[in-house]
Amino acid sequence: MSERFYVNWPLAPGEVVLEGPEAHHLAAVCRIRPGDEVCLFDGDGLEYPARVLSAARRRVTLEVAVPLVPARELASPVEVAAPLPRGDRAAFLLEKLTELGVTSFVPLRTRRSVVHPRETKLDRLLHHVIEASKQCGRNVLLQVHPLADWESYCRLGNLPPLRLLAHPGSLSPTHLATLSQCPAPAGIAFAVGPEGGFTDDEVEVGQAAGWRCVDLGPRILRIETAALVLAAWAGLALSP
Ligand code: SAH
Repeated sequence: MSERFYVNWPLAPGEVVLEGPEAHHLAAVCRIRPGDEVCLFDGDGLEYPARVLSAARRRVTLEVAVPLVPARELASPVEVAAPLPRGDRAAFLLEKLTELGVTSFVPLRTRRSVVHPRETKLDRLLHHVIEASKQCGRNVLLQVHPLADWESYCRLGNLPPLRLLAHPGSLSPTHLATLSQCPAPAGIAFAVGPEGGFTDDEVEVGQAAGWRCVDLGPRILRIETAALVLAAWAGLALSP
């Protein structure tokens, strides 16, 4: 795969000029030269092969060819809702969810959650999504939603048909192995709790709103491990 670059405006075939920080990144950091083949993407699902025509520090001109439509997305949307883990583990979580093809991430506020990110922090998470998309070849960006309260979020009417709430030691959990036997759903939402776990009330509210509890085994996983197990399972269940 050619080196990939993201631009946050709509691309089209023909001559394209990049200026400012984008041009600096291509010319000075990545040292691309006239004649080099690169790949541009703008998050619309397409991949735009491009040839560098000229490369100055602050202005790079490229000839963009007809876009390709590589199949790198899951067959149906997957949303992961979880409180953000602390520090670098939040960036790790977003990077890996992007690689696994997750469609959207909802940072949750729960009774026991401790990290409640501001807009600035959520913008920084988008940077990790973009970097991971460049690396893994995704041409659609994982959407990072604003902070949401679990009890309002779990009742939203526009959530996917299959909604799974990870909760250790649930009394009658749904098993992923059983779900794997069912026809692929039209979309999945996963909820993972904070390090202190969901409270009993929060689990009840979720179940009343149609969320099914899943148990991921006898060990207690960290937020990001639980989220990645679920996302990896969804990737297998929903692969085209
Ligand atoms: N101390 C908490 C565990 C929190 S771990 C408790 O005992 O409930 C953080 C979150 O990861 C949990 O709220 C849950 O959503 C998920 N999780 C971790 N291990 C799990 C397991 N074995 N089964 C199901 N969910 C798990």
